[in-house]
Amino acid sequence: MTHRLSRRTERLTSSLIRDILQITQQPGVISFAGGLPAEELMPDLDFDACAADSRQYGPSEGEPRLRALIAQGLSGLGLRCQADQVLVTTGSQQGIDLVGKLFIDEGTPVLLESPTYLAALQCFRVYGAAFHGLPLQVEGIDPDALKAAIVRHRPAFVYLIPSFQNPSGCCYTDAARRAVAAVLDETGTPLVEDDPYRDLVYSPCDRTPVCAYLERAPWVYLGSFSKITAPGLRVGYLASSPALFPWIVRLKQSSDLHTSRIGQAWLTHFIASDDFEKHLAHMNGVYAERRNTMQFALVRHFSGLAEWSAPAGGLFFWLRLVEDVDTLAALKVALTHDVAFMPGEPFFPVADQRYPALRLNFSHATPEKIEQGIGLLSEVLSQCCET
Ligand code: PMP
Repeated sequence: MTHRLSRRTERLTSSLIRDILQITQQPGVISFAGGLPAEELMPDLDFDACAADSRQYGPSEGEPRLRALIAQGLSGLGLRCQADQVLVTTGSQQGIDLVGKLFIDEGTPVLLESPTYLAALQCFRVYGAAFHGLPLQVEGIDPDALKAAIVRHRPAFVYLIPSFQNPSGCCYTDAARRAVAAVLDETGTPLVEDDPYRDLVYSPCDRTPVCAYLERAPWVYLGSFSKITAPGLRVGYLASSPALFPWIVRLKQSSDLHTSRIGQAWLTHFIASDDFEKHLAHMNGVYAERRNTMQFALVRHFSGLAEWSAPAGGLFFWLRLVEDVDTLAALKVALTHDVAFMPGEPFFPVADQRYPALRLNFSHATPEKIEQGIGLLSEVLSQCCET
């Protein structure tokens, strides 16, 4: 039997990260590959108190109390926003998908950081986006380069992860945030700001959303509860400038009617309780220790092999290798030593901006495993450099 599939489906590639995750979940493998939060830090999910009210269909926009709490939280960050501008999504990944549906036709130009979040590339690619990469520097993207790229490519939107970027860990300075916002306002270019890591913070740094600095340009802000509670709940959210919002809600309706009411009810209860702040503080303490452990282990084992800076928050180290190593081949060797990392290559939106790099997650493995795994990995990489 032959199937006639859409052109969109033919563009689908399997996600390398999901394929690798399957291998790395085997017992005995020390994995720095996925972006997994630590299970032992996830709060207990007690649905007893919320299940009865959550059985019936609910509003597409999300539960009113949760939307109000989210709007309040965003306003606290400086992003002036009302509850009626908030949509609860099935993970922030759904927000990325809705944005893709909203803005992208075949060949639509999109500007993104280079490197950037793999699953956003995968999603926008399915809708037919034509990518243009903005090289990431220590302080964020260069506002002049942004302006030049906007003038040249006229993108439908710019997709940025300004706080503890995936994969690079980069956190934009406040000056860079303001300068980027000024360029977007001047050119009227929509911003899609993806911000799932902002509450995972280990050293002081600027985290005001770029959207908060916009005065004119349309915007969509994406947030998530995955990294700070439990990704299995699949609850995230988006907020947008008022003119875009009704379109996004209609797209959400046609996608899944609404996000699970049980997950929303549990989260509403949890984030309104005193336990939430305590939980965040504890999680950040544990992750800060793991980040420090990885930093010390890298200094011991990777000096001369790679360049990096310790991230101030989020879940990842990004190592730029000094030599031109084939990181996909290196991963295969690493797996035979029971250690895994994420090769940098698929995170680049365009091939000519690629350089050899690794992404290492530090939230999931214990400090002992981090020490051991970084030692193993440096041996693998040293071998690959010699050959
Ligand atoms: N955006 C970025 C930058 C991410 O790293 C992730 C998770 N890896 C997501 C969005 C999606 O997260 P979720 O759907 O679990 O909210």
